[in-house]
Amino acid sequence: MSKYDRIDKFNLEKMSDAETAKKQEYVEKKCKCSGCPTYVKGDAPVGYCYPVIGTSKKIQWEKECVCSTCPVYKEYELDFTHYCTRCSQSCQAMKVEGGAGHD
Ligand code: SF4
Ligand code: SF4
Repeated sequence: MSKYDRIDKFNLEKMSDAETAKKQEYVEKKCKCSGCPTYVKGDAPVGYCYPVIGTSKKIQWEKECVCSTCPVYKEYELDFTHYCTRCSQSCQAMKVEGGAGHD
């Protein structure tokens, strides 16, 4: 059993605004998106897996996704790809669960 919540892997529900912002900074710093074939130069902020960042405004075409090589992906046991176009980790997890919320 993973130590992370199945939906809220970044544990945002339990964090303060300041903690959320701090973790966002951490994710953006470690993010590998800028070296990914799908990435469109200049798009920011990266770290699309992180729920508060949102999908890209510029990326329209999915090519390869290098998220599985990213330290954030490994650290938080993420399990989706193409967060830039398909939405964040928790958003994709909710879709898989059929839209059922969590408590
Ligand atoms: S998992 Fe993907 S989107 Fe998330 S920080 Fe890493 S490279 Fe960026
Ligand atoms: S989320 Fe995945 S596909 Fe999108 S830019 Fe980042 S590494 Fe590439």
